[in-house]
Amino acid sequence: MKKLIFVTGGVCSSLGKGVAASSIGALMEARGLSVRMVKIDPYLNVDAGTMSPYQHGEVYVTDDGAETDLDLGNYGRYTHSPLSKVNSITTGQVYQSVINKEREGRYLGRTVQVIPHITDEIKARVLAPGKDPEVDITIVEIGGTVGDMESIPFLEAARQMIHELGRQNALSVHVTLVPAVSGGELKTKPTQHAVKELQEVGIQPDALVIRAAEPIDEGMRRKIASFTNVEFEGVISGHDAKDTIYELPLLYHSQGFDTFLLKKMGIESRHADLREWIEVVRKYREPKRRVRIGVVGKYMELNDSYKSIWEALSHGGIANDAAVDPVKIDSGRLEEAGAEGGVDMAKIFEGIDGILVPGGYGQRGSAGMVKAARWARENKVPYFGVCLGMQMMVIEWARDVLGWEDADSSEFNQDSAHAVVSLLEDQVDVKSYGGTQRLGKSESALKAGSLIRKIYGADIIWERHRHRYEVSNQFRADLERSGLHISALTPDGSLVEAVEWPDHPWGLGVQCHPEFKSRPVQPAPLFKSFIGACIKNADA
Ligand code: GLN
Repeated sequence: MKKLIFVTGGVCSSLGKGVAASSIGALMEARGLSVRMVKIDPYLNVDAGTMSPYQHGEVYVTDDGAETDLDLGNYGRYTHSPLSKVNSITTGQVYQSVINKEREGRYLGRTVQVIPHITDEIKARVLAPGKDPEVDITIVEIGGTVGDMESIPFLEAARQMIHELGRQNALSVHVTLVPAVSGGELKTKPTQHAVKELQEVGIQPDALVIRAAEPIDEGMRRKIASFTNVEFEGVISGHDAKDTIYELPLLYHSQGFDTFLLKKMGIESRHADLREWIEVVRKYREPKRRVRIGVVGKYMELNDSYKSIWEALSHGGIANDAAVDPVKIDSGRLEEAGAEGGVDMAKIFEGIDGILVPGGYGQRGSAGMVKAARWARENKVPYFGVCLGMQMMVIEWARDVLGWEDADSSEFNQDSAHAVVSLLEDQVDVKSYGGTQRLGKSESALKAGSLIRKIYGADIIWERHRHRYEVSNQFRADLERSGLHISALTPDGSLVEAVEWPDHPWGLGVQCHPEFKSRPVQPAPLFKSFIGACIKNADA
């Protein structure tokens, strides 16, 4: 029998439901079970592709090119659940498909309603990823907070599924908060109310993950258990991790959470094999050294905008027994560098061991990124360009080495005679924004003798993509003739996938997003190598 675990949140948003759901997934895998992860986002956008990173953080891209919520990135870092379009459900998708079916006459003249038509559509979508015979458990995270209007149909679908499948086959885990008031006293009232709210929609939680700054002691867990009708063993202290969020699977396990969930579902399994997680946490706790990486981007105010970049950098760090201290540098601040009243580049980059320019869209801040690339190239500081960061390497090179002062991306300047980054001819007329980029998994052929070839140890690799503009083939020969190494192409040779600086310790840009595949237990090769180069630079 396949099992479902619904993960909901109460009290307020941003309690870390995604990491909680992921950690439960990691624990189930440690027990030898096969899990699938599903995220429900109750917004009307069909996907996250058109959402500003300021609104909703990073857009996470799956192999099949779905543009999804960043929680799918957490699932990818903690579990082996395949992630694709079916693992991300939004209100927009659900309504779109129900309305399409209605227009096709498939409801045979019936009145189409939220219950049962929308809820049936939700149920079918929740069950779809777990259809594969090998799957044991599907973990379904319902975004938002219980009590929001938007999530009502999803909670109703969850209630029906728990009722229909039976409590042993569909569990509810509710993530809540125990805040401290002035004086430090912990308050359980918000949790009481949050559970009541869940009970009001007909769902009795089987387990509670209690978020708090400090561990929740046994007395308080007993108290919470008694007023929520949750068994004591199911009340888990989900206090803040001290060193790394990758401690959570171990923290839950130490309280018997996995044993409790398996008992509830009637699943017999092997003992938890948590060796990988123990090793990861040990490395985070005892780094042999630290490195400082300057990340020059434009969405710096919101930490979540570059979520997978921060994570991949830290994975690259532990692969080198080092802790990474990221230094956020708003590219806008560098635009006036050198000019009167502008910042001093040497001051900004003082004590920084390497520079990374991540992905991004739009002209604002781009001049600052070009300056960061020039600084890194001239001063031989390790530089890693990811997507837009690679395009910036090409623009900087064309301006300085080829002497084309107007070199640019046609994304920023449509009138440049040297649009070294531009749209492909067949793309020029694209009017729609949702899903019109080069999205998802695709291959790159790595050139013999290149740094990237050495790093991956393979001729053909694949990574995920999300971008619209490409290095222009019109100028490829000029770029190469002037010494820029074009070190990876699509296997058909039509598109540039990576560039490298000559005579530089580590100057590499890729058009893809290697950060999306990085896991703490399997750091992305490029991040591992980049941090290694930054350590060397620090020691030089
Ligand atoms: N704006 C650039 C493009 O669309 C880069 C995109 C990105 O960095 N993800 O090609």
